[in-house]
Amino acid sequence: MDEALFTLSLPENEPVLDYRPGTPERRTLKSRLEAIAAEEIEIPLIIGGREVRTGRLGCCVMPHAHGHVLATYHQAGPDEVRMAVAAAYEAWREWPRLPWPERVSVFLKAAELLAGPWRATLNAAAMLGQSKTIHQAEIDSACELIDFWRLNAHFVDRIYSVQPDSTLGIWDRLEWRPLEGFVLAVSPFNFTSIAGNLPSAPAMMGNTVIWKPASSAVYSGYLVMKLLREAGLPDGVINFLPGPGNIIGNELLSHAALAGIHFTGSTETFRHLWQTIGENISHYRSYPRIVGETGGKGFILAHPTADVPALVCAMVRGAFEYQGQKCSAASRAYVPDSLWPEVKNQLLAATKQIQIGDPRDFRNFMGAVIDEGAFDKIAGYISLAEQSPEAEIITGGGVDKSKGYFIQPTVVVTTNPRSKLMEEEIFGPVLTIYVYPSGEYEKTLALCDTTSPYALTGSVFARHRYAIHLAHRQLRYAAGNFYVNDKPTGAVAGMQPFGGSRASGTNDKSGSMLNLLRWVTPRTIKEAFVPPTDFRYPSMEEE
Ligand code: NAD
Repeated sequence: MDEALFTLSLPENEPVLDYRPGTPERRTLKSRLEAIAAEEIEIPLIIGGREVRTGRLGCCVMPHAHGHVLATYHQAGPDEVRMAVAAAYEAWREWPRLPWPERVSVFLKAAELLAGPWRATLNAAAMLGQSKTIHQAEIDSACELIDFWRLNAHFVDRIYSVQPDSTLGIWDRLEWRPLEGFVLAVSPFNFTSIAGNLPSAPAMMGNTVIWKPASSAVYSGYLVMKLLREAGLPDGVINFLPGPGNIIGNELLSHAALAGIHFTGSTETFRHLWQTIGENISHYRSYPRIVGETGGKGFILAHPTADVPALVCAMVRGAFEYQGQKCSAASRAYVPDSLWPEVKNQLLAATKQIQIGDPRDFRNFMGAVIDEGAFDKIAGYISLAEQSPEAEIITGGGVDKSKGYFIQPTVVVTTNPRSKLMEEEIFGPVLTIYVYPSGEYEKTLALCDTTSPYALTGSVFARHRYAIHLAHRQLRYAAGNFYVNDKPTGAVAGMQPFGGSRASGTNDKSGSMLNLLRWVTPRTIKEAFVPPTDFRYPSMEEE
């Protein structure tokens, strides 16, 4: 079975289904939505393949109807963390020895299950548990996660085939070993695909993983775990450990066998994790790999030659889709005064058409924000705008958490381009605009570059090629994902590898080979077929 060099060709991206009325995918999805909403499940931890119940329970609710409980879940404490470390260690002795085609086949099978029989279930879970519209669920929980699994399997093949040159009589080889120890995967609430990818990517490279999902996305995380088990993931390769971040984090971050952390979430949490690793640096067996994709303050910057309808469409989709809860969301915009009256009219007209509500009503463009903490934080920024003499809310501003955590799409215009609203990550449906003098495009590029500590995504809209080129140069470090005449959200795995720098993360580009390279520690092997037997060199001979 091992007597061949197996290869995997580059897969196509999973097609996005459109769920138009009358389509079979729409019918199947509706019946899964009904079924999931009608039951309340109990979610255990999964450690070494065993279901573990602690009795310390948390709740999964619908953000748009927070009285509706979808599930209760058991939370890990220090004992379960120790069990998970032992299970990961046990699995580490077997999993990396499995030939890589067998290993990646688990994830290729998971991708097929998700593309087929699991698609509606995971999409319905994201719609109900994370308040995603069907389109947002489809591009995330279905397509992006399928793409991550298929593409990463291909990248494993590509990485393993990178080998050094050899000279005559010598064979040089690189062995792409997994890290020595366990990897901790800590995932955010906002993307099921990221939650699935954070533990899977290191596991595909032969590592074993402890996965702590976000408390507000345990429901879809559990289904991903079940799907991987159905695809044949062996016991202990990924251990599913919901629970309080600080308790789980503290136990694991000081463990000598911590070999890496694969994190996506806020900058604040990542800095805390990195600092804790720094404090424990002398306790580890190796230097843990630290990979973190964190916050953003996505921008859209329009040149006076920008195409206004395209700009407005990018603003609306970039700022308000998934309620602005994308790290890549357009959160600040710079519009020249020459275009502003037209942009304002079109933006107000478009925003007025947005419907918000329960994602089960497919006409809605927005659902609710994830939980009360997020709601209060976003509402705080809206109050700041209301009270500030430098800001004016030109549409939206309404908030209501009586039944669900609903926040209207809100557009603020500010006269202070360095106000908090232009600088800080809000992570909600709030777009702040600074109208700049048309003659000051270059100055505005510099302003955009230096205003926020983040550098994740950004777009420039212009027809003028010199203006586009200038933006490329001036904003070189302002965004890890830079768009020209397109919205700053919606990166597709394999096409636009994702990640930013500055305060936005380590920029290890999920959905690319670069990310997988962080989960290996290569061994160089040199074999001499006929080694020398005389220690003296010819230069040492007498004349
Ligand atoms: P968060 O930082 O609140 O939580 C992320 C994860 O960290 C959760 O699982 C949480 O439980 C865990 N956590 C919190 N404290 C911890 C601790 N002390 N030890 C261990 N784990 C701990 O982020 P969130 O609200 O879930 O997600 C939103 C954030 O994620 C935003 O800032 C967004 O920009 C960012 N994000 C970034 C990207 C990217 O690719 N750059 C993608 C998605 C989300």
